[in-house]
Amino acid sequence: MTEAVKRVYAFGKDANGNNVTEGNTEMKWVLGGKGANLAEMANIGLPVPPGFTITCQTCMEYANAGNVWPEGALDTIAEYRADLEERMGKKLGDAEDPLLVSVRSGAPFSMPGMMDTVLNLGLNDESINGLIKQTENPRFAWDSYRRFIQMFSNVVMGLDGDLFENAIVAMKNDRGVSSDTDLTAEDLTQLVYEFKAIFAENVDGDAYPTLVVDGEVAFPQDPMVQLQLAIEAVFGSWNNPRAVLYRQKEKIADDLGTAVNVQSMVFGNKGETSATGVAFTRNPANGEREFYGDYLVNAQGEDVVAGIRNTSPIAELKEVEGLEEAGAQLEEIFGVLENHFRDMCDIEFTIEQGKLWMLQTRAGKRTAAAALRIAIEMEKEGLISKEEAIMRVAPDQLDQLLHPQFDKSATYDVVARGLNASPGAAVGEAVFSAADAVAAAEAGRKCVLVRWETNPDDLAGMIAAEGILTSHGGKTSHAAVIARGMGAPCVCGVEALKIDAAKKEAAIAGTDLVIREGDMISIDGTTGIVVLGAVELVMPELTGDLDTILEWADEVRTLGVRANADNPEDAQLSRDFGAAGIGLCRTEHMFLGDRKQIIQTFILNDDELIREKAVSDLFEAQVGDFYGMFKAMDGLPVIVRLLDPPLHEFLESPRELAVEIAKMEATGASADAIAEKRDLLEKIDGFAEQNPMLGMRGCRLGIVYPILPEMQVRAIATACAQLQKEGLSPKPEIMIPLVSVVDELAKLRGVAEAVIADVSAEEGVELDIPVGTMIELPRAAITANEIATQADFFSFGTNDLTQTTFGFSRDDVEGEFVPQYLNEHLLPYNPFATIDAGVAKLVEMGVALGHEGNPDIVCGVCGEHGGDPESIHTFNRIGLDYVSCSPYRVPVARLAAAQAAIKQA
Ligand code: ADP
Ligand code: MG
Ligand code: MG
Repeated sequence: MTEAVKRVYAFGKDANGNNVTEGNTEMKWVLGGKGANLAEMANIGLPVPPGFTITCQTCMEYANAGNVWPEGALDTIAEYRADLEERMGKKLGDAEDPLLVSVRSGAPFSMPGMMDTVLNLGLNDESINGLIKQTENPRFAWDSYRRFIQMFSNVVMGLDGDLFENAIVAMKNDRGVSSDTDLTAEDLTQLVYEFKAIFAENVDGDAYPTLVVDGEVAFPQDPMVQLQLAIEAVFGSWNNPRAVLYRQKEKIADDLGTAVNVQSMVFGNKGETSATGVAFTRNPANGEREFYGDYLVNAQGEDVVAGIRNTSPIAELKEVEGLEEAGAQLEEIFGVLENHFRDMCDIEFTIEQGKLWMLQTRAGKRTAAAALRIAIEMEKEGLISKEEAIMRVAPDQLDQLLHPQFDKSATYDVVARGLNASPGAAVGEAVFSAADAVAAAEAGRKCVLVRWETNPDDLAGMIAAEGILTSHGGKTSHAAVIARGMGAPCVCGVEALKIDAAKKEAAIAGTDLVIREGDMISIDGTTGIVVLGAVELVMPELTGDLDTILEWADEVRTLGVRANADNPEDAQLSRDFGAAGIGLCRTEHMFLGDRKQIIQTFILNDDELIREKAVSDLFEAQVGDFYGMFKAMDGLPVIVRLLDPPLHEFLESPRELAVEIAKMEATGASADAIAEKRDLLEKIDGFAEQNPMLGMRGCRLGIVYPILPEMQVRAIATACAQLQKEGLSPKPEIMIPLVSVVDELAKLRGVAEAVIADVSAEEGVELDIPVGTMIELPRAAITANEIATQADFFSFGTNDLTQTTFGFSRDDVEGEFVPQYLNEHLLPYNPFATIDAGVAKLVEMGVALGHEGNPDIVCGVCGEHGGDPESIHTFNRIGLDYVSCSPYRVPVARLAAAQAAIKQA
């Protein structure tokens, strides 16, 4: 951070028209975004009303000292105030020709709604006369004074705005007029009198001793008192709860502070040749290069945004008498700003009696589509380089382009809100069980699966549904993770939803609304909202711009991008999105539906023959699975992970089984049937574990039941051999999960190699199938040099690695303590969403040690973090070969990888 050498910096011109600006656009850490760019505009010769900026650092010193001014600061401000008066040839509070100023906040990052601006500061019972003399417009002057008292009371003193609005309404009623503009100068004079009385009544004199005159609170007449209180209020707003919350959400540091800009007023409300407006140098919705913005004649400040009166498009400015010159100048300034800032700019301006003044500029916010178009066109115009164009698009924004959305012109009522867990919108009839979702899909009806929380049993239903809605769980809950993986919209943790799955309905707390099975509902996983009824959906138009930027990104990135996919459709989708292979194919997803019965038979039967039959059935099915996958990814690597989850996940829930037995007993079922169920329950209970995540799973399964990896490897090798015979180039790789010691891997590698050799001989084709492992336990990362001797590749499973490094359960992490940790800054962010620095260290160690054990080892990441732009920067720095993420994140990851390469070059 730049060191603040001064407390206050001047901007604008002096009395002789010389530029005396002390800051520039680089100084946003000192002057805030608004102050830095006001300085920059003055420096490049644009008309900026003169003023000065009090630094962000002063704000922090003031705040850290418990709202006490640092020594000398007030004196410095007084000097700059005096200097401004000299430059303007006017004095604050003067009875002949008063200077009026605005007091504007401006942090290093834009924080909308944190603090309102105070306009017309410096007015008092004397300077009002000066303003009347200068403008010969008493109505304007009194209106300015009443606006100032109103803003000052509301923004600086925190009084309820209604106190003043009510007084205005009462006045209008009394005068029998409907609009503010119908109030006369005399009415406004009367209002000023009333406003001052409201102020005196409602301000606490003990809290503001400087406002007490003769033992009574009074509206401050001394402009210096007005100014100091206004500046203190801006400083104080940095730590108001709204601002603190906003920073937390936007990951903005708490120690930046806000600057305060004190700027001489210009007036857009001085008649028909005055106006105020906002503009963008290009269309922020679609990126088109056009004159874009709105203005209002005879208006001040936020009137344009407030929507009180109908605005006019700025393209018309040039045709309005008295404004045409300013309009032409503004159009020219668009070009000047774009050339200078080399970006699309957002502008605030005011025209005072035909003269244009620039009040603000910054890089304009834009939609994803506009961001792409602007970046590409600016590169073509020679304004920016390809690399800069790549940096101009926020990877997360691409999500907007990759999913269906609510039609913007649709109207609908939001009935409940939850977490925006997986982007995109979905519409369908509500169903309350996975089976009902499957049935609806099979009947060709679109549905949204509504569950308390989902579990692996729901997977088939989740796949069948258009979207998923849960009343429980956070952004890394089962529903959220799976939905993101599938690219399905998901809203989770909708607490207002009181689901009765048995009745197949959900009441919405706080309303008398009930969602029943078959009712049409709409969810938007981008914003986290739930709507009763069907909202019109649109598939955002995909122009060639996305492709262009991604091609440019591919030219500069060194980090590979693969996808996590476990069926041919997703594999194809990943390929279309530019994935260079499959980094993780989870085979457990292949054991759903009727396959579940087969694996249950295998698990629960002691009879060798029955077990073998089950395994051979699974084998047949798996050959087909792999054949489809490898074919879709022909020529590209497909890493197949051998069976990973605890076996009991394939079994019925013991609790449900116990309920079933109780029911059977109550209804007098046959003793044999009951005994059979009891037997089953006992067996299933035998698989129960205290900590299944730390139990019989991963490679441990393959070591206890070698027949499973044998079967899976045989299926992989067989599918590979078939495709090779058909003239294709399948590239499967075998991945062994959850290894902690090298001998586990050595043993299973031996099993795999023997099977591959077998199949090769049987089929008469040469098979080259690499074998590698997941690094997802700390011990594996720490002993990666040993493990690498047995591995052709490593894939860092950062979900489990985070879980086992922290000892946090990823299924419960959003529940109790992690939110508090985040609030108290014990953790900077959720480590399951963005890779934690400690976990990243293990990855880095694993990569380095892995290369010691095997110099040719290929290293990738296949956890959720693989699709997170911030984590991608970390992985790029560590020097991984690729990241693997869900198909829909592939474009995001390609862009983020390019940005990381550019930043770290
Ligand atoms: P925000 O950060 O909320 O945009 P600003 O500080 O930009 O707040 O002030 C809001 C509006 O007040 C500006 O867009 C402009 O119309 C008006 N304003 C602020 N300062 C001045 C000034 N010196 N002269 C005239 N209008 C001003
Ligand atoms: Mg503004
Ligand atoms: Mg794992």
